[in-house]
Amino acid sequence: MLTIMSDNIELTENDFTEDRYARLRLITWWEQERIRDATIMVVGAGAIGNELIKDLALLGVGRILVVDMDSIENSNLTRSVLFRAKDVGRFKAEVAAERAIEMNPDIKAKALTLNIIDDIGLGVFRRVSLVLGGLDNREARLAINQSCYKVNKPWIDGAIEVLNGFARVFTPPDGACYECTMTEIDWKLINKRKSCALLTNEQMAEGKIPTTPTSSAVIAGVQVQEMLKLLHSDRNLPTLAGKCYVFNGLTHDSYVVEYQRKPDCMSHDTYESISEMPWSVHSLTLAELVRDVKTDLGENAVVDFDRDFASDAVCSCGERKELFAPIHSLRAENILCHKCGATMNFERFHSLDGTEAFLDKTAGEIGVPPLHIVSGRVGTTSKHYEFSADEAEIFSDFNQGGQRQ
Ligand SMILES: [Zn+2]
Ligand SMILES: [Zn+2]
Repeated sequence: MLTIMSDNIELTENDFTEDRYARLRLITWWEQERIRDATIMVVGAGAIGNELIKDLALLGVGRILVVDMDSIENSNLTRSVLFRAKDVGRFKAEVAAERAIEMNPDIKAKALTLNIIDDIGLGVFRRVSLVLGGLDNREARLAINQSCYKVNKPWIDGAIEVLNGFARVFTPPDGACYECTMTEIDWKLINKRKSCALLTNEQMAEGKIPTTPTSSAVIAGVQVQEMLKLLHSDRNLPTLAGKCYVFNGLTHDSYVVEYQRKPDCMSHDTYESISEMPWSVHSLTLAELVRDVKTDLGENAVVDFDRDFASDAVCSCGERKELFAPIHSLRAENILCHKCGATMNFERFHSLDGTEAFLDKTAGEIGVPPLHIVSGRVGTTSKHYEFSADEAEIFSDFNQGGQRQ
């Protein structure tokens, strides 16, 4: 005969009507409302991202933003609990967001099929509770790290390789950041990628790392546990802030290393105050942007961007063409001369003083992402301005915009 329950547990009617989160509420420091009110951005919907999103949905995280620009391939199916064979060819972010809502209809999830480095404005980072990374490259980690420090948001990085992995937590404005942890080898690899920038898509696909659904589950689990502790930061729980949890999947040894903050690190720039402007990147021209900043700061003010943009490409054969895109987003084919086949040179800029020839373009037309933050500068004094009219574009499907700094 099958024994369903032990003799000393008596089930009452209450046990069958308890709400979905009843067992979580039994945790002494747990406050389900905080988890419900959180807005979490998950960057990368691959092996780690699938596990992260699954956990967030189960836990009832109120709003999940999923950022990933790739499509699902057959080889993803061995490591992605949210994807099915019929999803192959669809965008990872969209499918992951759909499945999260299926798992838990209490939550909202939104897919942003965009590139984290070029397409996600700083105001998006500013409106989330924290960022979870499920990435496979250093350049994206560096970009997230700089954005999170600028708007003072914690981020939790995860990485896996075969059976191993690690998870680490960065909590601006203090402590070591991701850049502080980078070694000379990391920089060499990143610079190599940058110097032969303009890689073809085939070249970018190289260097894929073997991963498993087991190590991604371990590491994502640690990341989400760290997130839960950060959401209950007043409960004095120990966290991995400024530290790395290292998991060896061959021996199942694990240990924690502490990072040192580098005083000369370039990524610790935190914006002190941010002015919300009634600007949209889709309608504000660069001329209007320069005008508004000069009105606020004086005639000598310039507008600074936190990234380089390409303006014109010029070929030795005399051919010219407009690029107007972030340098990072350019590919080899973008600067190929259609007339003679040579590689064209291009002009770059990261600030505006009002004398530029292309001020009739909107901020969006040169590649400034929606809800981004730009700086006005006079001498060494800077002020920061947000394209706040773009908020609805990113957060419209959510009940509210989430907490701000
Ligand atoms: Zn640093
Ligand atoms: Zn040419």
